[in-house]
Amino acid sequence: MKAALFLPLLTVGCFGIPTPLAPSVDGSVGVPHAGVLRGAEELPVRGPGFARLRPKSPNYWGNPRLVRGISAAARAVTEAAPGGAPLLVGDISAKRGGKIPGHRSHRTGRDVDLLFYLTTPSGASVPSPGFVKVATDGLSQVKDDHYLRLDVERNWILVRELVRSKEAQVQWLFASRSVEALLVDYARARGEPLDVIWRAETMLLEPGDSSPHDDHFHVRFACSADEEVAGCEGGGPRWEWLDTLPPLPDLDGRALGEIAKEDPFGLEAAHHATPALGSDG
Ligand SMILES: [Zn+2]
Repeated sequence: MKAALFLPLLTVGCFGIPTPLAPSVDGSVGVPHAGVLRGAEELPVRGPGFARLRPKSPNYWGNPRLVRGISAAARAVTEAAPGGAPLLVGDISAKRGGKIPGHRSHRTGRDVDLLFYLTTPSGASVPSPGFVKVATDGLSQVKDDHYLRLDVERNWILVRELVRSKEAQVQWLFASRSVEALLVDYARARGEPLDVIWRAETMLLEPGDSSPHDDHFHVRFACSADEEVAGCEGGGPRWEWLDTLPPLPDLDGRALGEIAKEDPFGLEAAHHATPALGSDG
């Protein structure tokens, strides 16, 4: 019984509980809808293949891995399909995270909104005029007599780069079912690698608890293994192609003895805890 009482105190003292108030945590801290951000990097106003939707907004701060991941994916799109309009990037997070207007999540630098690449009905790439809804046939009615079309080729390349990037470690690509169907059908017809298509099908998801995301992608990055240790909280599945989390420490008697040496509470916990681990004796 004593072990059960002492173990939480040991954990506080030695590993640091990941909360926004604990000074030892870093990076994306907490879950996307209730967390903060430290050590953020700001997405530039524009770069190769991308531009901010709101150049002067203060909400372009993200986990550095997100900023690199988005930049790399946008660059890959322009290299694979040159001459198109840039990827327009919506909100990321505030410099220190927390709530920003118009979003429930976007609090830990792991969420970003990406506008769809669009073309004219005849297929010429055009800059997105904003959050325009794409119907099941891929068309978007911008005004009474003005239609645009989902740029299936460029949106697929973007998705492909995000889902196959080992460094980016994307967790979800929220988008409507019809956008997913259009992109996956295109990828299959093109003969793209099946494992990449499988990842895309797995990570593309129409959210059940918010808008269907038929006017933009909402990309959520996973916590990396290092970030989990520093306070990042997942809130979702961990795909097998992402890096693995560090193993939990093996808390045998010897390990507890080591931990107890650093115990700032002076509880001499090892003495009490060692024999009782794994039982409530
Ligand atoms: Zn969003």
